Amino acid sequence: MLPIRECVLQTPGYVPGEQPQTNDFIKLNTNENPYPPPPEIFDALQAELPKLRLYPDPVSTKLRKAAGAVFGVSADNIIAGNGSDDILSIAIRTFVNPGEAIAFLDLTYSLYDTLARIHGASIIEIPTDENFALSEPIICPEAKLIFLASPNPPVGKHLNRDYLEKTCAQSTAIVVIDEAYVDFSDENHLDFLQKYDNVIISRTMSKSYSLAGMRVGFGMASQSLIEQMNKVRDSYNLDRLSQTLATAALESHSYFQTIWQKVRRTRSRAIAALRDLEFFVFDSDSNFVLASPQWMSAAELYAQLKERKILVRYFKHPRILNYVRISIGTDEEIDRLLTAIAQIKAQK
Ligand code: PMP
Repeated sequence: MLPIRECVLQTPGYVPGEQPQTNDFIKLNTNENPYPPPPEIFDALQAELPKLRLYPDPVSTKLRKAAGAVFGVSADNIIAGNGSDDILSIAIRTFVNPGEAIAFLDLTYSLYDTLARIHGASIIEIPTDENFALSEPIICPEAKLIFLASPNPPVGKHLNRDYLEKTCAQSTAIVVIDEAYVDFSDENHLDFLQKYDNVIISRTMSKSYSLAGMRVGFGMASQSLIEQMNKVRDSYNLDRLSQTLATAALESHSYFQTIWQKVRRTRSRAIAALRDLEFFVFDSDSNFVLASPQWMSAAELYAQLKERKILVRYFKHPRILNYVRISIGTDEEIDRLLTAIAQIKAQK
């Protein structure tokens, strides 16, 4: 027998959305930003190339300063990660012993479950209501760490702010508020950082800053939490190119704000058009929508769209078997999706 940890053997592992390695798909399945970053940000890379023989800044100083300026938080209250996934993993390894409990909603970002399992943590699933929403503050004294995404996938709505705040106030656990999609909405929870020393807010540059391919995310928290998390992260967790490009992107913050508005306009249009096509569609605070065709199985719709080279996300989760999750693409991509759906519907 090879000495493989039992919890690893028992974990299916995280199943990411399909990432086709060809360019012939309209890709509306993993919530990337359909608009590229502004080309000027690539200029900064040239100066870094000759320095690639040198290790990068282990604590991503410039990047954290740029992030702090955008988020209105001191750089000392920020840790940078190799994607926000890295921040989630660092949080588990900093605050939870194997065998202790991690809590999250019964329908949310599925990586929480995978990370908890491979850590050997026990899992507490917090039940959501019929709209997949938090129905009351979480009281869970056994949990050492609580992951709450707001907006929460796959629905994409913010969790009730009052319940979230009460959860932070009443918990002895560390509460990670995962704000991966927050820039596509009007609210955030940064003010909780001043009020609660057990709160970590995570952000990513993968969605709103069009840099999913670069892998950059942040955790924001009190200095005493950041100090401990810094001991746990990989020694050089962000490479030179990521630090440089992400810093330049944050300095072009206003460009991205325009993009977020554009995505939100397309989202409103997509929701209205899908409802006209007889879908049940949840409202969304994110760059995706969860939609259920009332005239065909979602699994079949997913397959038929894929045949037409349009990728949406289908989850084999019992509570959302008849839903597809659709990332908001460009107006043109969404028009092509809507045309394809109308054709599929007409052929039924
Ligand atoms: N949090 C949530 C809620 C997500 O949906 C995702 C995207 N899969 C992430 C975090 C991961 O983001 P990153 O690309 O920064 O690792």
